[in-house]
Amino acid sequence: VIEIGQPEHSVITTCAYCGVGCTFKAEMRGNEVVRMVPWKDGKANRGHSCVKGRFAWGYASHKERILNPMIRASITDPWREVSWEEAIAYTASEFKRIQARYGRLSIGGITSSRCTNEETFLVQKLIRGGFGNNNVDTCARVCHSPTGYGLSQTYGTSAGTQDFDSVEQADVILLIGANPTDAHPVFGSRMKKRLREGAKLIVVDPRRIDLVRTPHVEAAHHLPLKPGTNVAVLTAMAHVIVTEGLADEAFVRERCDWDEFQDWASFVADPRHSPEAIEAVSGVPAADLRAAARLYATGGNGAIYYGLGVTEHSQGSTTVMAIANLAMATGNIGRPGVGVNPLRGQNNVQGACDMGSFPHEFSGYRHVSGDETRQLFESLWGVPLDSEPGLRIPNMLDAAVDGVFKGLYVQGEDILQSDPDTRHVAAGLAAMECVVVQDLFLNETANYAHVFLPGSTFLEKDGTFTNAERRIQRVRKVMPSKSGKADWEITLALAHAMGFNMNYAHPSEIMDEIARLTPSFAGVSYAKLEAEGSVQWPCNEKAPLGTPVMHIDGFVRGKGRFMVTEYVATDERTGPRFPLLLTTGRILSQYNVGAQTRRTENVVWHEEDRLEMHPHDAEQRGVQDGQWVKLASRSGETSLRALITERVAPGVVYTTFHHPGTQANVVTTDFSDWATNCPEYKVTAVQVSASNGP
Ligand code: SF4
Repeated sequence: VIEIGQPEHSVITTCAYCGVGCTFKAEMRGNEVVRMVPWKDGKANRGHSCVKGRFAWGYASHKERILNPMIRASITDPWREVSWEEAIAYTASEFKRIQARYGRLSIGGITSSRCTNEETFLVQKLIRGGFGNNNVDTCARVCHSPTGYGLSQTYGTSAGTQDFDSVEQADVILLIGANPTDAHPVFGSRMKKRLREGAKLIVVDPRRIDLVRTPHVEAAHHLPLKPGTNVAVLTAMAHVIVTEGLADEAFVRERCDWDEFQDWASFVADPRHSPEAIEAVSGVPAADLRAAARLYATGGNGAIYYGLGVTEHSQGSTTVMAIANLAMATGNIGRPGVGVNPLRGQNNVQGACDMGSFPHEFSGYRHVSGDETRQLFESLWGVPLDSEPGLRIPNMLDAAVDGVFKGLYVQGEDILQSDPDTRHVAAGLAAMECVVVQDLFLNETANYAHVFLPGSTFLEKDGTFTNAERRIQRVRKVMPSKSGKADWEITLALAHAMGFNMNYAHPSEIMDEIARLTPSFAGVSYAKLEAEGSVQWPCNEKAPLGTPVMHIDGFVRGKGRFMVTEYVATDERTGPRFPLLLTTGRILSQYNVGAQTRRTENVVWHEEDRLEMHPHDAEQRGVQDGQWVKLASRSGETSLRALITERVAPGVVYTTFHHPGTQANVVTTDFSDWATNCPEYKVTAVQVSASNGP
């Protein structure tokens, strides 16, 4: 703990980094944080935290923070500091001018998963009610949108089924495409504790993550599959379960559509899905695959946890459905200790999705074409709403390049750095006439912005975040906004200037409106959050204190639905020019593109991004450990230092993407999930060669 003086008072609030949602006591001296102490009563963290959260307050007062609004007529002009009034009036007049010239659909916006539920709700409300279209999207587009699609199709709702406590009753943990000890450290520790107590672990991951073998924990099985073959491996596990009679028929008959189960069962039973057939596709030995499937089906409570290694593929949605199938087939759903658990990345990505940040859905995942739902929103908001889904982020960029999309309001996202195919993102942004970036720092996207609206950190506002277990927790203002306006106040001012009436004196009033409009939030209020500490949605008349475990008596959609999941190889192929497969991940000390973590006191733990290579591949290329290498793909190239390690298999290379200089997304492709457009970040054919430096 770094101390800078004795605290005078303290405020309980929630970490703004990852989807674990740890609560902290911010100990204050005047308006300055003295230290952040993990809160013992935090239901997600129980007094624990990781290094990122403990030092998170540092970036709030970093010298590079922008505190005044700025505008410029052209992106080649210098920025000009202006008053809030001028910045808001300029933005509104530009958006109105663009719509008058190019039409109602020519502008849109992106909500931030780092902002509060109330703030993301207001941005989508401004776009639907003020812009008059559904051109709203969010960063879940590039991370967990396949979770939304896959779980909605199979179970009827877009969220993890369990609370974190559930892991304490798991007997077998099937961990796919996730590295919780680095990316979700506090939950990762709880998982590790359960493993030390004797739960069995199956890891499905191309890389040997720490949990495969770490002091006192050794995975029963590590299936080091070739990147891009998740569906093949999961379908092979289903093959074993069905053909060896390991399915829980009683559960399936009672809880699922029996006809669809039979169709699915005969599909997976086909010999072409056997582990022996899939070994050649995935590289996973058939015997290991069989043993892992048997353990998951027969080892007691089987709990599945997964991350972006599942979703960020061209078959991301198919993989989520394959996971949902496995849990239903074995009866591992609807009680503590089991379930399907997406480990959501950002602090409020679950909430941003819940709040209607998608172009086809209102809050609570209800389609914009539903007349009854739309009329409910129209009657409360007092404006007609569009029944046609709007544009997703990649479609907005395509339309910009085509000259028909001209204005974008970006709330707390850096799409130039975080979205795939950087050159295409830059081309789209450059083609727009008014790009508005609302953020803490001049990020990479701001290079293409005409308006910069300084945002506020989580320490400077009231609101709520929803973590990966659907837990809604209070974010409490511990200091005044350094820029003069919290993000919700900025959106409110912009709505007024656009002629769209929104009136709230405090974020609690926004939550009251969310509760009126969203059945799964109907019982949520700030008063309840103060009384209970937190609640997990659905929270309504049926479950006034929330729902830790879902689908206990029945699935949200009624009967659980088995989906046929045919494996289709990605179009991204290796060949003589690009013979290796690149996949990516995170390290413990850094958070995503590092905009915040690089500006905090935990600098001693900061590391550069390295390219992990197997010794065999390194030797073939004459690459030494620590040497600079060129990483090239069909999309572009970048340079970084090599780390020679057997964590990755021959033929696979791996890097993190925390430092802007790494430019990992210069090499990633523009392939994406067939259902949701989630980019295929996790599979890129590359070549690596020794170089002298960047
Ligand atoms: Fe907890 Fe995640 Fe914050 Fe770490 S980064 S303190 S695990 S919420």
